Amino acid sequence: MSFEGFPVEVSPIYEGQRIRKEDMYVEFGGPSVDRKFELVLAASMEEVEDGAVKIIGPDLTELKEGGSYPLGILIRVAGAKVEKDLEPVIERRIHMYTNYVEGMMHLNQRYDIWIRISKKSFKKGLTSLKWWGLALIRLFKAEMPFIEKMEVNFITDPEKVKEWYQKALQIYEARDARARTIRDEDVDMFYGCVLCQSFAPQHVCVISPNRVSLCGAMNWFDARAAASVDPKGPNFPIPKGKCLDPIKGEYEGVNEVVAKRSMGAVKRVFLYSMFQYPHTSCGCFECIAFYIPEVDGVGFVHRGFRGPTVNGLPFSTMAAQTGGGIQTEGFLGVGIEYFRSPKFFQADGGWARVVWMPSELKERVKDAIPPELYDKIATEKDAKTIDELKKFLMEKGHPLGIKLKEMEAAVAPPPEKPVEAVPAVPTAVPSVAGIEVTGIPVSAVPTAGGGMKIILKGAKITVKKLIVKKVEASKKVEKK
Ligand code: SF4
Repeated sequence: MSFEGFPVEVSPIYEGQRIRKEDMYVEFGGPSVDRKFELVLAASMEEVEDGAVKIIGPDLTELKEGGSYPLGILIRVAGAKVEKDLEPVIERRIHMYTNYVEGMMHLNQRYDIWIRISKKSFKKGLTSLKWWGLALIRLFKAEMPFIEKMEVNFITDPEKVKEWYQKALQIYEARDARARTIRDEDVDMFYGCVLCQSFAPQHVCVISPNRVSLCGAMNWFDARAAASVDPKGPNFPIPKGKCLDPIKGEYEGVNEVVAKRSMGAVKRVFLYSMFQYPHTSCGCFECIAFYIPEVDGVGFVHRGFRGPTVNGLPFSTMAAQTGGGIQTEGFLGVGIEYFRSPKFFQADGGWARVVWMPSELKERVKDAIPPELYDKIATEKDAKTIDELKKFLMEKGHPLGIKLKEMEAAVAPPPEKPVEAVPAVPTAVPSVAGIEVTGIPVSAVPTAGGGMKIILKGAKITVKKLIVKKVEASKKVEKK
């Protein structure tokens, strides 16, 4: 494909480029800008001015160097085969094709985009958004020939961005609502996406009816449409195969395809759990789920939350730990729509395991939270530290707060009268032998890695020998 006459190169070799703040001419969207979006709309042939790039508001030369600005990318497409189903599919490719432009970086999706233009490319002549729009039109028409007409509108006028932003949110919501009508059990085919392998080479998104992509931009219908119109593209079918574990969400077909597409790096995937073999995360996730061992619960943080979370870490620090396409037990990138899934962390206890999330996110997914748990989940307004979180959970009677109370009671200081026998050890606690305990109970907390943290509080002990034995489930059944 020729980009003759363009001031910069346009090629897949630039995919994955990063532009640091000190190297950027300007940025659009990102964490410091409230309103930004990208939206593709299917239109009639008459409604689309083919090849046009319109800039509604100031262009690059009118913006102050080093600034962060709002932006709406509104693309209209038409063609005999262009259907509404294809809108999100085309929309998601804006990410890929923008990253082909030398000196341009595009991150995230939908209402959360973040674009940087480098000083170097600006100096080379990338001084108007027009070049970006023309590159998109050429790339889309070459790679998706069913698009017969395309026009690109860049909205930089803050008032107009605000107006369209609300419309865009309504359109995203309508797309998500449609995908809530089917379940994983109803289909034989899941779909995959490897669009983000340019940033995270081992990452494979598995998209099922009950598990939206972690970027939130691709649901099962979208992925199915993408795989059918562009079989050589980044989306592909995954025959579900035999279900190996309906609670954890492990499927033979998923394991096979993910192993192949990740070049053997990922061999097993649990779709409904963040432990053992969690889904990989690239870097585009809308939210991070993080395990909080001190309360044995799960917290969430969304990309827009700027403060530290209850474990003291902000989104950006945990994103580095979560992303990159590797399986990290206890950290998982998820799409916001996954909160509404009937399979939401099914293997880990579902909503009963959720203990903390920013108030903005809690409000956004309010409809998905079981009413009896809503007031029991803390936000940054209720708990800023783990100690505050423990207190909140116990006071509110959260299922994990009740457990914590029981554990605290179990490790309470010994009564004045000496107690002869060691109090009963909870069933989940490994047996501890060879310890001279004087009225001191022993308790244990499961950790993210599946192990145990043994707590001996206020004890004066002499350890001659310590044997930790794993209690086999089958043996426990036999004893009964
Ligand atoms: S996050 Fe997943 S679904 Fe979304 S673009 Fe990346 S690979 Fe595709």
